[in-house]
Amino acid sequence: MSDVQKSAHSTQEHDVLGYWEKHKIFERSVNERPESRPYTFYDGPPFATGLPHYGHIVGSVMKDVIPRFWTMKGYRVERRWGWDCHGLPIENIVEKKLDLKSKKDIENFGVGKFNETCEAVVLEYASAWKTIIRRLGRWADMDNAYSTMETPYMESIWWVFRSLWDKGLIYEGYKPMHLCPRCETTLSNFEVAQGYADVTDITTTVAVELTSGPYADAKALIWTTTPWTLPGNVLLAVGADMEYCLVESAGEKYIVAKARVEDVFKGKEFTTVETFIGNKLSESTYDPIFPYFAKHANAFRVVGADFVTDDSGTGIVHIAPAFGSDDMMLGETENVKPLFHVKMNGQFVSEVADALEAEGYKVTGIPMKAKGAYSEIDIQIIKWLAHKGKLFAKEKVVHTYPHCWRCDTPLLNYAANSWFVKVSVMNDVLVKNNQTINWVPDNIKEGRFGKWLEGAHDWAISRSRYWGTPLPVWRAEDGHTYVIGSKEELEKLVGHEVKDLHKHVIDNLTFTIDGREYRRIPEVLDCWFESGSMPYSQLHYPFENERGFAKKFPGDFIAEGQDQTRGWFYTLHVLANALFGSAAFKNVIVNGIVLAEDGKKMSKRLNNYPDPMVVMEKYGADAVRYYLMSSPVVKAENLRFSEAGVDEVGKKFITILRNCLSFYKLYAEHDDGRVPNEAHVLDAWIIARLNETLEAQTKGLEAYELADAARVLQSFVTDLSTWYVRRSRDRMKTPGEDRAEALATLRLVMKIFSKMLAPFMPFLAEVVYQELKQKAWDDKGESVHLSSWPTAAKVDTKALTQMGEVRAIVSRIMEVRDQAGKAVKQALGHVTITTPTGKLSKNYLEVILDEVNVKKARVKQGDELAVELDLTLTPELVREGMARELTRRVNGLRKEAGLTIADRIELKVWSASEEVKTMLAEYAAAIAADTLSTKVDFAQGLTIDHQAEFRVAEQDIWIGF
Ligand SMILES: [Zn+2]
Repeated sequence: MSDVQKSAHSTQEHDVLGYWEKHKIFERSVNERPESRPYTFYDGPPFATGLPHYGHIVGSVMKDVIPRFWTMKGYRVERRWGWDCHGLPIENIVEKKLDLKSKKDIENFGVGKFNETCEAVVLEYASAWKTIIRRLGRWADMDNAYSTMETPYMESIWWVFRSLWDKGLIYEGYKPMHLCPRCETTLSNFEVAQGYADVTDITTTVAVELTSGPYADAKALIWTTTPWTLPGNVLLAVGADMEYCLVESAGEKYIVAKARVEDVFKGKEFTTVETFIGNKLSESTYDPIFPYFAKHANAFRVVGADFVTDDSGTGIVHIAPAFGSDDMMLGETENVKPLFHVKMNGQFVSEVADALEAEGYKVTGIPMKAKGAYSEIDIQIIKWLAHKGKLFAKEKVVHTYPHCWRCDTPLLNYAANSWFVKVSVMNDVLVKNNQTINWVPDNIKEGRFGKWLEGAHDWAISRSRYWGTPLPVWRAEDGHTYVIGSKEELEKLVGHEVKDLHKHVIDNLTFTIDGREYRRIPEVLDCWFESGSMPYSQLHYPFENERGFAKKFPGDFIAEGQDQTRGWFYTLHVLANALFGSAAFKNVIVNGIVLAEDGKKMSKRLNNYPDPMVVMEKYGADAVRYYLMSSPVVKAENLRFSEAGVDEVGKKFITILRNCLSFYKLYAEHDDGRVPNEAHVLDAWIIARLNETLEAQTKGLEAYELADAARVLQSFVTDLSTWYVRRSRDRMKTPGEDRAEALATLRLVMKIFSKMLAPFMPFLAEVVYQELKQKAWDDKGESVHLSSWPTAAKVDTKALTQMGEVRAIVSRIMEVRDQAGKAVKQALGHVTITTPTGKLSKNYLEVILDEVNVKKARVKQGDELAVELDLTLTPELVREGMARELTRRVNGLRKEAGLTIADRIELKVWSASEEVKTMLAEYAAAIAADTLSTKVDFAQGLTIDHQAEFRVAEQDIWIGF
């Protein structure tokens, strides 16, 4: 990174980091606040299985700004970092690393060795995270981080599970879920919601021969997007009250819903023989589509079902109870057991696979669903159907389909055994307690989150995997279940110490009660159950911190991306409500997604975004922080990341404020440390602007509206620089009372502003604060981050209104000058200003005349603001313009030559013009003062142009003007 061009500010940020660390400013900012005033921040644990991306950076800045603010407000804000260590993300990485392709491979390799590898690599990127988080200026206690794989954390998870079990909120059930055949585990519904993507499938219409009933010689047409489920077919469903037709086509009789006839027989010749109600078909039997399970009890009947519709397909639904939720319920009603013709690894069972292979259809070892395209399995099934004369039609269709959020494998809808949290009985309380949460933006409360809560299903929390907190469930052969709630309880039951609660350690621990031997069930917990337990587990509650816990729950603040409305926000909320009947957090900021500048997802492969570390080095972390916090991404909207936008913060905010600081430092020796009296209108105005800004910013931060709080800072900096400092330049250069007032005002304003900057731009804030404290009269604050949040004084609205009017008048006069081609350097004689009141105090008038370079003004009353500018140039005005231009040019040259205010020059002006001579006679003293010249001489000569000369470092410099 050494070739990155760093801004001056970025370079200085490194010094600030060193200063904070040397003086332990972060630790002190926490420890010096009273324990009796806690503000609780919960950090959502990230996985350290990859480097942080811009999404993490947005989150990290939000999680830094808010705690810094409340710290300055006098609260003790502990910021313990956390790591998510368990679950599929890390298991997938280790499988790849060890070249393990299936669960069987893992078991052959050894679960113990597998888990130990997970443990060894899970924090692989932790030190890279530390580097980036530090550089960003985010304060977090990373040395004392909690991790979800530590025994105390896991023990508290057991306590959570056991508490829910005791409340009757945990059950084991057999349910249609989504299965990842590669990971060989079922997933929860919100994990499924994370991985939708488009796939191409082949929809297949199959002709099924009826064997009894009134239409025994006809074929029922069924339609499916999942041909691979057809060998598991056990029933056909029709709408009992829906109309169906018997249709004759090419010598065959078919049955199809009346509303679907035109579509299904499109392009074919057909005649409708009869129309009848679906009821008439029920209890007809049919020839099994595939012959492998022909003896399945109660199967191969046509039955009525209310979920059947006639808006697509054929109006006759193929039912495979193991592979769909409607299917499963209908199977239960009709007393037909699910037929599992596919195993959890996504392969056909041997009855199906062997028979198909024997007939020459290649199905073994092929995934049941391919990524993106249709599966070869579906092709084989369709070929088989065609060969047997059962295929009526096929068509490609693109539709959205769920994929595994970790390994991208298309999921299978699959009835399986799982452990659940009974969320569906809690919907009312979940919705009610959602009302206690301050959501930012607030539409998420009733929208994304509220809707999800209303419809929340039971939460599948068990995973048939290895690296996770094991379910604390032991079972006897007769089904008796024992749920353990602590490590100590397990130790008592097994009679020895247990150091680690991971699966490979405790799976073979058994115990006997009342003659029954209990063995552990194999499943581990969903890693979202673990992160949702974070408020309790990070404190090892209730085994430790039982007394302190009440003050730290619910949390005051959390922040994450909007995908967490179905992830961490949700699991925190469910568990807190289940345990304590309360929300888990009081305030939450939800951020949107950071996209690449081209509007696409940021992608390593497309290389369409700059490395965050490079951007921070180039423009400074402050620029990145402010750019993000003032953007819509903190209102859950998407942001196209623009490096130019970060650059602009550097130029329009950081550099400008640093220039104001430099300007103050230039004259700081004349600041006597007084408290300004605000007598000058400019001083009164900038202090009013400061109070106005502080009030708006405080309100924004208290409401967790980060962009509102951030944006007012930029407009203040602009006003400070382009109006206050610019208009006060002459005041600060001219010795006297007014200079002392102006300098004291600028110092006071920047000092308070440094505190206001502290949450958003902690580095710049520190630089400004430190520079301004170096005078004896100032407080000895060691860091802006140890100081208190300033309190806004009453805003002098009159000062704001009047200066607003002044600035409006100035811009009118400038417009007139512009149109007349009279640059501001040319003094003008007179202006008439019309205002609604007809009044302008002398002070304001002075500011106006000075800014627009006009000698005199008359103010009169009228309906609207207006200006009349006298553009007549008298010889006196021309000479004044000349003097001003000469001064400007000489000062330009002084700057180019690198002179400072300590350097004096001698100025000599040549000209043939009497005019110039007269001008010099009039203005020599003023020019000398403004150009820091010890003398100004005139010499007759040079007919063509006026020339001036002065010497710098033995060198003559000439200018024409
Ligand atoms: Zn998977």
